[in-house]
Amino acid sequence: MNLHEYQSKQLLSDYNIPTPNGYVISSLELVKKYIAEFENSAVIKAQVHTGGRGKAGGVKMVTSEIEAYNFAENLLGKNLVTHQTGSKGIKVNQILIEEASKIEREIYLSIIIDNTVSSPVIITSIEGGMDIEDVSKLMPEKIKTTICSPLLGISNYKIRQICKDLEIPENLKNEFSQIVLSLYKLFIKNDCTLIEINPLVITKDEKIIALDAKINIDDDAVFRHPSLKKLEDKSQMSPLEALTNKYDLSYVKLEKGKVGCMVNGAGLAMATMDLTKWAGAEPANFLDIGGSANEEKIIAAFKIIIEDKDVEIILVNLFAGIARADVVATGIVKASKETSSKIPLVVVMRGTNSEEGLSILNNSNLDIISASDLEHAAIILKEKISGGK
Ligand code: GDP
Ligand code: MN
Repeated sequence: MNLHEYQSKQLLSDYNIPTPNGYVISSLELVKKYIAEFENSAVIKAQVHTGGRGKAGGVKMVTSEIEAYNFAENLLGKNLVTHQTGSKGIKVNQILIEEASKIEREIYLSIIIDNTVSSPVIITSIEGGMDIEDVSKLMPEKIKTTICSPLLGISNYKIRQICKDLEIPENLKNEFSQIVLSLYKLFIKNDCTLIEINPLVITKDEKIIALDAKINIDDDAVFRHPSLKKLEDKSQMSPLEALTNKYDLSYVKLEKGKVGCMVNGAGLAMATMDLTKWAGAEPANFLDIGGSANEEKIIAAFKIIIEDKDVEIILVNLFAGIARADVVATGIVKASKETSSKIPLVVVMRGTNSEEGLSILNNSNLDIISASDLEHAAIILKEKISGGK
């Protein structure tokens, strides 16, 4: 789950990490009041779930009431397109007005989970302010990684090394170290998967401030944090994300392939993709319908798969346990009729009510081939793919 910048900054504040004074607003009425409060020197920032807002015209330093008002008017209610959003962009429902800071230096600081070392890692760069992806391309030596121990946290000597890497001045080392420790605590306590502060700045009057903040919470742990769950902003999701979220489906789009894969369970998804490749094809995506499934969920799942224009054939691989095969079959038939889909299906169904499921599919007059097992499905897939060439 993604938090907005203003929500992330509130969380940072709760852990005593300094952020600029600011207000989040969703209408223009209060712009003048806050600009006056900041003595006509403020930054206005679109609150949208994407990075790269600065370059895309979603962040601006303003120095007068009229400039502030005009910029806010041009942002609110409009879609902001950045290099991360796709051409439609994301709607700006809120903006943040902050007191402007006088920047001396910009630093990059983030914490993520690195699966290859099964630990949280702190990533820093002395080149803050620019996209970390660009830094890693242009000057990879400027990015430093510090592995933390999931049991012990960050040792003092590692923090000292970070201070050295970032050339933190002597008089700010204590404060900076405290910020890193607090950030780590925040990361662990809130089940974060990412905290990124870019830039963390040292101001001309020698203060350290988190000027930007991006926090993601682990979706599988967010139930442990009801107050964070409340911060979820569904307006920022794409229609596809909203649909997968609503029906608790796991959908992954893959590059190049033509086979849409509908499965139940992550292990089965892996096996299904192996099978697809073994048959000489590439999966276009996979959609895991999870353990339990009703008709409505299957209809949504089917629609999501055919929404992907790369899909030329659908492979359904179902090991029916709690999810009953007849329910899944009924859902597939309904969705296929509703959408007038012409995409052929290869179906393997075993487990609970699989015979009923297969007979529903076979009697549906749809372009459905039922396979007796995975190997059989692979053979059919092979024929279909080579036959279509
Ligand atoms: P992003 O582009 O979405 O990452 O948005 P940021 O919040 O990081 O803002 C982009 C850039 O605007 C920052 O890297 C800063 O260089 C600049 N910026 C943001 N706030 C201030 C501020 O208060 N003072 C100054 N001088 N620059 C700012
Ligand atoms: Mn930023």
